[in-house]
Amino acid sequence: MARPLRIVIAGGGTAGWMAAATFARFLETGFDIDLIESDAIGTVGVGEATIPQIRLFNDALGLDEDAFLRATGGTFKLGIEFVDWHRKGSRYMHAFGDVGRDVGLLPFHQYWLRARALGLAGDLSAYSLNTQAALAERMQRGPARTAQVLPGMPYAYHFDAALYARHLRRYAETRGVNRIEGKITRVTRDGESGDVSGLVLEDGTTVSADLYIDCTGFRGLLIEEALETGYEDWTQWLPCDRAVAVPSARSAAFTPYTRSTAHAAGWQWRIPLQHRTGNGVVFSSAHMSEDEATATLLAGLDGEAMAEPRTITFRTGKRRRMWNRNVVALGLAAGFMEPLESTSIHLIQSAVSRLLTLLPGQTISEVDRAEFNRQSDFEWSRIRDFIILHYKATERDDTAFWRQCRDMAVPDTLAAKIALWQANGHIVREREELFAEVGWLQVLAGQGLVPRGHHPLADAISPSDLGEFMDMIDKLNAREVAQMPSHAAFVAQHCAA
Ligand code: FAD
Repeated sequence: MARPLRIVIAGGGTAGWMAAATFARFLETGFDIDLIESDAIGTVGVGEATIPQIRLFNDALGLDEDAFLRATGGTFKLGIEFVDWHRKGSRYMHAFGDVGRDVGLLPFHQYWLRARALGLAGDLSAYSLNTQAALAERMQRGPARTAQVLPGMPYAYHFDAALYARHLRRYAETRGVNRIEGKITRVTRDGESGDVSGLVLEDGTTVSADLYIDCTGFRGLLIEEALETGYEDWTQWLPCDRAVAVPSARSAAFTPYTRSTAHAAGWQWRIPLQHRTGNGVVFSSAHMSEDEATATLLAGLDGEAMAEPRTITFRTGKRRRMWNRNVVALGLAAGFMEPLESTSIHLIQSAVSRLLTLLPGQTISEVDRAEFNRQSDFEWSRIRDFIILHYKATERDDTAFWRQCRDMAVPDTLAAKIALWQANGHIVREREELFAEVGWLQVLAGQGLVPRGHHPLADAISPSDLGEFMDMIDKLNAREVAQMPSHAAFVAQHCAA
């Protein structure tokens, strides 16, 4: 029988324990799995908002949803509200789930574009059940009562990422993952192949494996410090490079959505958990000092600060190769996508799933590595484009930061998407792209980009039928929302911590 394949996970933040839990669940036999982490170093300590795909991850592990929410102080998330992004005083929601209802060949928004041009339709948000429920601070699970006419309500979570890591640690350790407490002081490499050959701990022991998973956070102890993989810097498009974060006391507004409010040189997040609200200001240090950012953060809280504000420095971008030699980087070791669309935890999830699909044996094949890197690059670059869109499509010109964002050249892939929308309202999702048409739609429209035309098939319906159709969706949403319990009552009933 072949000897077990040895996998070592370096780092036990959200990334390390998500990988460990997945391996524990799906690599039950034939594998030895160790995880090394250092309590003295700790984790990044932020990361609270997710997207609906996290439910697939938790389901795959067989986690009980209410128990997981209790353990992590979690709440429900129906979308993200963007305030002051298009222009000061503007607000729109990027909600999960469909907007309106497609008819025949055409996506709903083509009818909406025509109806709007005729003065028969309101804001896009009226046609999204999630947006309406979010703004009313309501929540329900399961399909909408009017599911035959309108789709159900997808949701994600807000949670304490450190508590999530702890929850997954319990899961992984009970299923055989061996946790080693210790600080990695040196990474050794094989003189011939150049592969990583061992991780030397402070106490002198060496831990060796066939495959190393680098989850050591921003430093990328293996992927960068040892292998010098290189970093693709995206600062030219995403100039924010700092965050100041502080938790505040839970406020009366227990919103089932994340709020992102643009400020003079970046934006502020607000994420309601059961036991506190997470807040942070993301900013560009070239345009705003840390003191100004901290003052902006504290002025924007709706509850008392519960700790001293903490600054985190980052550089948006990604490793040139996320899988290099016998090291696969996950989480912050793989790169940093600013948290505007809550995608980082998802990127860990999708990378772990990709790795499971392409899992090597004792010999690593270059084609597997190349395929892993190709898929990762595609996923990261399309999410990057989506985030850049929020900055680029703005009418704000009140500060040098916003003028720079508005005037910057964007990647060709994004420029093509914007051009396609602006002509006739077409949105094309490429294979494997994370955000669906309806996500792009809400941000393109929310940021104030109006197409010059619409699909001619939308003209086939009479204006009175079109008006009635729009009205019907709006009314069905309102009726549905009125029947839902409040988010606070829902959490209290099902998953109070
Ligand atoms: P870390 O949490 O930094 O963990 C690193 C681990 O490596 C730790 O266990 C540490 O002890 C260990 N380690 C490091 N060096 C050594 C060593 N020498 N020896 C032994 N162990 C070592 N993501 C989202 O999905 N949604 C969000 O809303 C969101 N908001 C964010 C806001 C900000 C400001 C930032 C910076 C990130 C945000 N993220 C968000 C990203 C999210 O926080 C991370 O993707 C996630 O927490 C994973 O972090 P990690 O495990 O890669 O790294």
